[in-house]
Amino acid sequence: MSFFNYSDGELHAENVSLSSVARDYGTPCYVYSRAAFEKQWRDLDTAFGDHPHTICYAVKANSNIAILNLLARLGSGFDIVSEGELRRVLKAGGDPGKVVFSGVAKSEKELAFAIQNKVRSINIESVAELERVQKVAASLNATASIAFRVNPNVDPETHPYISTGMDKAKFGVTMEAAYDAYQRANDLANIDVHGIACHIGSQITKTSPFTDALEIVLNMVKRLSEKGIHIKQLDLGGGLGIDYQGETPPSAEAYVQSMISGIKAHGIDLPIAIEPGRYIAGNSGVLLTQVEFLKHNASKNFAIVDAGMNDLLRPSLYQAFHTIKPVAEESQAATQVFDVVGPVCESADVLGYDRELSVQAGDLLAVCSAGAYGFVMANNYNTRPKPPEILIDGEQAHLIRDRETYDQLLAGERLLP
Ligand SMILES: *Cc1c(COP(=O)(O)O)cnc(C)c1O
Repeated sequence: MSFFNYSDGELHAENVSLSSVARDYGTPCYVYSRAAFEKQWRDLDTAFGDHPHTICYAVKANSNIAILNLLARLGSGFDIVSEGELRRVLKAGGDPGKVVFSGVAKSEKELAFAIQNKVRSINIESVAELERVQKVAASLNATASIAFRVNPNVDPETHPYISTGMDKAKFGVTMEAAYDAYQRANDLANIDVHGIACHIGSQITKTSPFTDALEIVLNMVKRLSEKGIHIKQLDLGGGLGIDYQGETPPSAEAYVQSMISGIKAHGIDLPIAIEPGRYIAGNSGVLLTQVEFLKHNASKNFAIVDAGMNDLLRPSLYQAFHTIKPVAEESQAATQVFDVVGPVCESADVLGYDRELSVQAGDLLAVCSAGAYGFVMANNYNTRPKPPEILIDGEQAHLIRDRETYDQLLAGERLLP
């Protein structure tokens, strides 16, 4: 089910035509569907049935406070990777008691802010970090609730840049190191051992990497319990993939049930947390852009658009594929094969290679599946202001972030005296 469909000859987000969004807010802009975000979140929530669980939405996928607020209203928790993300969650009305804090390089200042705000779990990614958490918690006369993010060394079979759970990754603690680190943590005065966490990668399209990782995590839970260390929560990370280009990832139901049956098979009945980002946000947004020019050379046709790699980095960074659709369903223009390229002075500034399109200058295009890792990776390369974000709710369009102005863009810079 998509919330971006053609009706009356035009692509719509819910009941609002994308051409009206372009008219009112200009291009390029990000356009999101409230109903899409909520449906994806609810599909996961429902799949758990009455099994105790927390859905900790991965803030980094799309961190606009309006989006975080929608999910907080549904009862969501959050997975954060920085103090900045925790500040967003708090501003959006999220419950810090449902926040898990991941990341390999949390500073003392970030840890102090998280401990003071009583996040549910600091997911520790190295033995050195454990000592830092103890030190910060002691200085605050507080107790830090922690998990170790373990690295089960399973191959998620995804792009190497979004594979995080193999031995060669910088993320997590190896299983053997974790076994010792839990015992050390158990002895520390200001540490409360709460859970165990893993996150093996992103855009995973099968259940087997998840269940393989789960087996390894459950073995650790058993070994720890023999040592008198009792884990209270299993945090199984994010990573559930979406359909960008005909992929067939497991449904929310199949994904969640595979985990619940995995733990039941071991006679372990612990609450589960998951950290989905892409699954909730990815297909809940598009990047709307306008064709500036068509250009033809001996071997290529280019559709040059007003959005570039600074607005949507994924194609350049990960060779990611995003479907590109014309907003107008019918066109008089001849169908040709185009590279859809942006204005940035880099040959890598390509949103899509070899796309069959009927377009002319002035036409609008929607770059699909841009709700996750889209705006959050936008930058000012080539001194291009960041695009606005618009959230569609039924018939209504809400501007949830202004287009950046040149004054804002230059505000922090200074001439020499
Ligand atoms: C990025 C990340 C996620 C979210 O991954 P998705 O593939 O978007 O679901 C979850 N947990 C951690 C620790 C992450 O770094």
